[in-house]
Formats: sequence, C-alpha cells, structure tokens
Amino acid sequence: MTTIDLPLLPLGKGRDLTSERGVECPGDLPAASDPDLVARARAAKEALGERVFVLGHHYQRDEVIEFADVTGDSFKLARDAAGRPDAEFIVFCGVHFMAESADILTADSQKVILPDLAAGCSMADMARLGQVEDAWDAMADAGVQDSIVPVTYMNSSADIKAFCGRNGGVVCTSSNADAALEWAFEQKPDAKILFFPDQHLGRNTAVLKMGLSLDDCVVWDPLQPGGGLTAEELQSARMILWKGHCSVHGRFSPDVIDELRAKHEDIHILVHPECTHEVVLKADLVGSTEFIIKTIEAAEPGTTWAIGTELNLVKRLADAHPDKNIVFLDRNVCYCSTMNRIDLPHFVWAMESLVAGQVVNQITVDDETERHALVALQRMLDLPGKSHRD
Ligand code: SF4
Repeated sequence: MTTIDLPLLPLGKGRDLTSERGVECPGDLPAASDPDLVARARAAKEALGERVFVLGHHYQRDEVIEFADVTGDSFKLARDAAGRPDAEFIVFCGVHFMAESADILTADSQKVILPDLAAGCSMADMARLGQVEDAWDAMADAGVQDSIVPVTYMNSSADIKAFCGRNGGVVCTSSNADAALEWAFEQKPDAKILFFPDQHLGRNTAVLKMGLSLDDCVVWDPLQPGGGLTAEELQSARMILWKGHCSVHGRFSPDVIDELRAKHEDIHILVHPECTHEVVLKADLVGSTEFIIKTIEAAEPGTTWAIGTELNLVKRLADAHPDKNIVFLDRNVCYCSTMNRIDLPHFVWAMESLVAGQVVNQITVDDETERHALVALQRMLDLPGKSHRD
C-alpha cells in the first residue's frame, strides 16, 4: 500500500510538493493593517480592466467578495470563467481544486491565479490519486473492480476527476449527485459505485434520494489495509463510500438541532448535503449552496431559519435578509480555514503583481490530466434534466 499522509505543516509555511497546502507565499505581502488595502485593490482592478475576471466563491470573506465580478459555487464559477474568453487573467478567490477546474474549462491562453497557494480543501486532500489507485487495485483483487463505476464530487483534485474519466466514471455536484448515481447504476449490470471524497454526500444521496439502505453502503478507509473491508463486504455493497468529509459541514450536530427546535417552535433547519446523515435526517430542507440561497430569498418575512453551511455565507444571508431571523447551526464560529486564506493582502499582492506584469500563483493542469478530467466533466454535463451547481 502506498498511502502517504500529508505532513502537518503550519499553513503558509514550508513546502509540500505533493499538496497545494503549506506553500510559502513567494512575494512580499502588504501588511494586513495597511489602511490603503481597499484603495490598492480597487486601483489594481481598475488598471487591469477587462484583462482580469475575479471569481468569488460563496464561502469567501466579505473583504474579498467585494471585488468579485461574479459569485457562486465552484462549478458555476468555472463555467462563468469559460464564458469570458477575453479575460487574460482569472483570479479565483476560492480553493485549489476550484482553480484547477477553471483552468480545465477555460482557454489555454487564459491564466488562472489562486491568490494564496495554501488555500486548499481538506476534503479534496482526503482522496489522493495514489490512495485511489491502491483502492482500485484492491477492488480488482476482491473481484469487484469490473462492476465498479467511480463517481467523484466536484470537490476533488483534477487528477481524481481524470481517474474517473479514464475509468468510465463521472463528476457530480451536490445538485446533481442523484442523477450521477442513477447514471452510474445504469452503466453496468449489478453496478457498484465508488464515491469520493465525501462519504456524507454519497450516503445522503444513496439513501435519501436513491432508496438504498444504510446496509447497502460500506466505507473505504484509505488508511486501513484493504480499506478496512473484507472481500465479502465489498462484494455485497452497492455504494463504496470513501472515508472523506468536509471539516466545516461535518461539525454540525443533531443535538444543536434539538436545542434550537426546543427554543424556537417554528424554526426551519436548512443544511447542505455534506452534513452527516444524522443531521440531514433531522433537517427540514437539504440542498446545495445555491439551493440554500434561493430558499432564504423566497422565505416569508418573519420566519426563523438555522442554516448549516459555511459561516461567511450564513452571515451574508443574515445581513441581506434583516426581515428574517437567520442563525448559524453551530454553537461555535466555524469558517472554512483554507477558504479564509484568501484575504485582502493576498488579493492585493496577486492583483498588483499582475499589474506589474508578473503572473504569480498560476494554477495549471497538465494536458493529459485535463483531457481525462474533461471526459468525466462532460459526462456530468450530459446528465439529463439537472442543473450543475454544487
Ligand atoms: S467548506 Fe469543506 S469542502 Fe468547501 S473548501 Fe472548505 S473544507 Fe473543502
């Protein structure tokens, strides 16, 4: 088994060539206390004009969202970037796998920039290509590989998407995971699905949307020999869930839902499907970030909502809808720490570098990986009747 754990490096320090995390910023960052940061960001954006297109993921800080030309979830943003072929620079305020997706979908002449290379995604890092290839080999040994269709969540590295493209699989978002599973089950007689990296999205979709039972699902632990599963367990499973999770959405707990319901009789609980199965079972509504935003926009004034997703988005929704009572579904503050790596100093540094003619922190996906990843992405785009938002 060639599984390698990520070294524990303080974010932004040292160098880890196998991950986007823990890479030192190669330039001189402006001080966070610089009172001119906002003016500097505005000036750089103005100087670059139509040459730059700034993408802001829903979970980004307000100070960065202020400069985004468009906001959205990762797949929407990558497609928005593809729709602006005139923009020479795509500055992606999000995390590494998102910038990779933008590079895959945009023209070769466009350069995708991630203002801080330490902005990775802990969930994407939980499924590394070497680990997935080990698992694939072990599934061949167990005699089940021929019946497996791999399905990866958008929140995965480009090489994992390429693995799916090479092996008859597909990419999905949290909006179309059910359509992707339905498609995958139709690909082979007695098909099984290997779903990564988020076990919760896989389980919630399989059980709550596809009518499978919890007993149909097994969890592949990449840190255990043979995934911690016997050949018989693999043979009888229909869903093989990779043991990965989102460190933000995994925090929400059913206890807090009980507490909130005891306090507010009419509260509506609205959560993302990356939350655990127990939380999703207790929620009133479950859906992607776009679904969460639309639900709150359509909600009646005076209604009360507890939202289980990243705090920057929940705070912005609360500010934008003062006529509704919106609370965060956790007792503690809970931001995505890697998303929050993109702050105003990094944004200003990246933008001013571009103004000075220096392309920094460019994210590129090699041609071979891009070709196979596009196959899996195209299969997703061909899924019937679904939007493609995460
Ligand atoms: S919120 Fe979760 S899935 Fe999204 S970037 Fe952060 S760790 Fe990754």
